[in-house]
Amino acid sequence: MTRIAIVGVAGRMGRTLVNAVEQDAEATLAGGSVAPGSSLAGADIGELAGVGKRGLQAVDSLAAIVDDFDVLIDFTTPQVTLANLAFCAEHGKAIVIGTTGLSDDELTTLDGYRNRVAMVFAPNMSVGVNLTLKLLETAAKALGDEGYDIEVVEAHHRHKVDAPSGTALKMGEVVAESLGRNLKEHGVFERVGQCGPRSDKEIGFATLRAGDIVGEHTVMFATEGERIEITHKASSRMTFAKGAVRAARWVAERDQGRYDMQDVLALR
Ligand code: NAD
Repeated sequence: MTRIAIVGVAGRMGRTLVNAVEQDAEATLAGGSVAPGSSLAGADIGELAGVGKRGLQAVDSLAAIVDDFDVLIDFTTPQVTLANLAFCAEHGKAIVIGTTGLSDDELTTLDGYRNRVAMVFAPNMSVGVNLTLKLLETAAKALGDEGYDIEVVEAHHRHKVDAPSGTALKMGEVVAESLGRNLKEHGVFERVGQCGPRSDKEIGFATLRAGDIVGEHTVMFATEGERIEITHKASSRMTFAKGAVRAARWVAERDQGRYDMQDVLALR
């Protein structure tokens, strides 16, 4: 039985994660935290998540529950996540990180922990999205540099704070790597005014933010005469939460290292 603690149990993903752990026969809810100073500290985690009283109070410092859990699941903000990564390295805990929007410097800091903690870090924990990444790799390799324009379109709810989504960037990276391109060089994130025609090798990104859209991604390969679109649509946050709990069970058995969902799902 993997003992799981959840950071940010009052958040959108935090509450969904509590539900997902509750539904998993091989995982048990060991605790959860809220932001320091939050009025929700001391509240019952189960009640916060709408699954009924569980007798576990939300803490505002992980130190209070350090002996209770094996794996931490963190879907918060980059700064909070990096602090929790340091905490896990110090205390010999594994961690599953779903937080997106990390800067290059923050990613370098995260990577610096790869020999000190067992971590799964993935911008999208859904099994379907990770299968989609594999399909994109196959499509990009087959189509090659044969005149297909590549565009990534994503849509999310109005509250999302980073853009393009971590998943859209990951899709772009997978396609770019499969084609021997560098996304930093070929990614185009804005087109406005007299920007001229697109170049052959650019990979364009378009972002929509509206209402309660959970997460939709399409990668388009378009040429004269045909267009291939590979689309994934998430209809509930439960898909990310279930993937994260699966990752937590998997990483609990692993040595130190940085892993992603392709490792968890044996898709490499
Ligand atoms: P949210 O704002 O609803 O939740 C974040 C929660 O973290 C808030 O409740 C906040 O109070 C809490 N928090 C902040 N600082 C804290 C601290 N020091 N200790 C404990 N809790 C703290 O956001 P969300 O929609 O749940 O998304 C969170 C992150 O997860 C975002 O980066 C989002 O992009 C990402 N996300 C990733 C996936 C994936 O599959 N990888 C899926 C969905 C969302």
